[in-house]
Amino acid sequence: MASTLIHSLQGLIIGHSKRVQGPAMQELPQLGPGAFILIENGKVVKTGNQAETPERADRMIDGAGRFVLPSWVDSHTHLVFAGSRETEFVDRLRGFSYEVIAQRGGGILNSANRLRAMPEEELYEQSLARLEEIRQFGTGVLEIKSGYGLSLESELKILRVIRRLKETSGMPIRASFLGAHSIPMEYRENRAAYLRLVQEEMLPQVAGEGLADYIDVFCEKVAFSVAETEQLLEAGWKYGLKPKIHVNQFYALGGIPMACKQGAISVDHLEVMDPDDIQALQQSSIIATLLPTAPFFLRDPLPNARELLEAGIPVALASDYNPGTTPSGRMGFVVSLACIQMRMLPEEAINAATINGAAALEWDDEYGSLHPGKWASLQITDPIPSLDYLPYRFGNDHTWKAFVEGKEV
Ligand SMILES: [Zn+2]
Repeated sequence: MASTLIHSLQGLIIGHSKRVQGPAMQELPQLGPGAFILIENGKVVKTGNQAETPERADRMIDGAGRFVLPSWVDSHTHLVFAGSRETEFVDRLRGFSYEVIAQRGGGILNSANRLRAMPEEELYEQSLARLEEIRQFGTGVLEIKSGYGLSLESELKILRVIRRLKETSGMPIRASFLGAHSIPMEYRENRAAYLRLVQEEMLPQVAGEGLADYIDVFCEKVAFSVAETEQLLEAGWKYGLKPKIHVNQFYALGGIPMACKQGAISVDHLEVMDPDDIQALQQSSIIATLLPTAPFFLRDPLPNARELLEAGIPVALASDYNPGTTPSGRMGFVVSLACIQMRMLPEEAINAATINGAAALEWDDEYGSLHPGKWASLQITDPIPSLDYLPYRFGNDHTWKAFVEGKEV
């Protein structure tokens, strides 16, 4: 029975055992100077204060001056993609909008063309390298979407790469089927035919091979209407896929009340919100997942996190790691940005990036906090004066060591 003891910590952030909302978002359960955490067989078995520290373990780590906190849970990524899109990045600097670039066949369609051309093995290698990089920076649970395929064959290629990452990387991963990410060029004059392709060919095969945990749709003017999204979510339910959707990134079209009615697990983006949207969320149990690096990169207004928090809505933070609008999976920066630009308090941002991210993947009973019985997925920081220092000193990597399910990565 291999055991690891991390002792003499400046602070041990245990976190909440389940998702949090309302005033509890500002609380971060923790043990003070001298705390320890004992890990056995990948799980947390005991935590406590200095006086209760066990005398020995197979591996002892001196945590003096350091903090331990749960791994980041990145509940929204597009990590499996082919190549990069810095040319469009420069186009945007020259003044072209996301919508104009999308209409010219750039954006998602550009990524889809590259992905279709890339052999599955190369796609796997590129994606694994990205996963290994973010794992060093403290991410210990991940969601990955398809959506850069936009054909039966290519969507399956992405989802099979995700499955292989699940099997080989040791990282807990949930997969979302996002065949309805954009209308491919060849279907621009016949949207109904693409919707049929997603519902009648992609969904049965994706579900049949057990390749996805969720269905996602990009509900937006440049992508799918509220009615189309609802039709797709209903089709997903027939195959047992629960919805998690991209919504209210550029326009409030009524997608949030629809997602609430459809029993979505999370609604993601929320840069633009109507009062009806807030009310619908308050009356549901849906997680509001904010992705502040995307509007940061696009120079769009960031979501109004304070409004959501003060309305008592459970907020999660995720990276949206993707080649078009967030070519970075650094959750530490997401947390800093949430504090600096959305005025989330450090405690709120850390809860949002850990336990509420886990809740957005229906995994808060296993990950997202460090209660005995949960997986020991955690990060040990460099010596830092306080936890507030993490978001304050933005852009730095504060992770000294990272553990996923008890194994150092
Ligand atoms: Zn996204």
